[in-house]
Amino acid sequence: LTILGIETSCDETAASVVRGGTNPVRGEVLSNIVHSQIDDHAAYGGVVPEIAARAHVEKLDGIVQRALDEANCTWSDIDAIAATTGPGLVGGLIVGVMTGKAIAYAQNKPFLPVNHLEGHALTARLTDGIQFPYLLLLVSGGHTQIVLVRGLGDYERWASTIDDALGEAFDKTAKLLGLPYPGGPAVEKHALDGNPKRFSLPRPLKGEDRLDFSFSGLKTALRRQATELGALTKDDIDDLCASFQIAVTESLEDRISRSLLRYRNEFEGRQPTLVVAGGVAANKAIRTMLEKACADHGFTFLAPPIALCTDNAAMIAWAGLEHLSEGAQSDMDATPRPRWPLDSDSAPIIGSGK
Ligand code: ATP
Ligand code: MG
Ligand code: FE
Repeated sequence: LTILGIETSCDETAASVVRGGTNPVRGEVLSNIVHSQIDDHAAYGGVVPEIAARAHVEKLDGIVQRALDEANCTWSDIDAIAATTGPGLVGGLIVGVMTGKAIAYAQNKPFLPVNHLEGHALTARLTDGIQFPYLLLLVSGGHTQIVLVRGLGDYERWASTIDDALGEAFDKTAKLLGLPYPGGPAVEKHALDGNPKRFSLPRPLKGEDRLDFSFSGLKTALRRQATELGALTKDDIDDLCASFQIAVTESLEDRISRSLLRYRNEFEGRQPTLVVAGGVAANKAIRTMLEKACADHGFTFLAPPIALCTDNAAMIAWAGLEHLSEGAQSDMDATPRPRWPLDSDSAPIIGSGK
């Protein structure tokens, strides 16, 4: 099977062609084109929905063509079109879904609506062919979740952030310190030169029994410290970044360790695996911590290449491919779903088979 994937849920306009089968699982990424809109949004310190939607309209056709060209494919090689249908910004979702449906209609191919979070959840099967079940830590700009991936379409959310997403906390911290958007890479870079002990910041929820995450208190504490300093020197910024990064890393470590303990107890006998996804997975301090936490708890740690951890269309094509090979039908009636939790009981994840 060869699938064209389209991703337009946030600030990346992306298209990809993926080929593969599910026996054995694992796919081949024939092309993976991602146009980041960072430059369009940088001046505003975050994603502006109206600008994002317009940029998707402008770029998507060309990106789809490039994805086909780089994959050395023509339309006759493509078995189905998969597009992110939610969750995300509604303007972008409309562009992706309408484009995907138009192609599917014109080329007489099935259209598969894909949940963006499911794309993240299944990426490790595309890249490493891992078997179900496994635990997923999704840490991106919009999400911070632990999901038990039991099987295709069978997801159990164990924990979520009760306030900010982790990437969002990095972005807001960067903005507060006058660093460029997106904040994660900038904070990480400054943290390398900083003293993580200079400022004492809270470790939200550390030691608590529940599995959830929280990051907004940390950001507020950091704002207070920064305000007390007044005009910030380069050293101040480095030290604030280092103190912030160690605080989030330690908070995350406490939270994830709790889930690892719980998973190990519930799935005795099978080799437990933790997969990480989302842009924050690029952070080296966080990755190192996760590797160690997994080793400590007898887990295998798996991190797909960064290009497939951040938003991309290969993961969307792959999710479509998995569903198609399990018998999903074309769904031309699918409409954008700005809110669409992965563990939704209210609706099937994909391809209702109408
Ligand atoms: P989603 O809809 O899945 O939430 P998103 O576009 O918000 O998607 P991604 O594209 O997966 O998320 O990742 C972007 C986020 O990752 C941003 O918040 C960014 O600051 C963060 N990030 C990127 N690199 C790093 C890093 N090195 N350290 C920490 N955070 C990072
Ligand atoms: Mg993004
Ligand atoms: Fe994402």
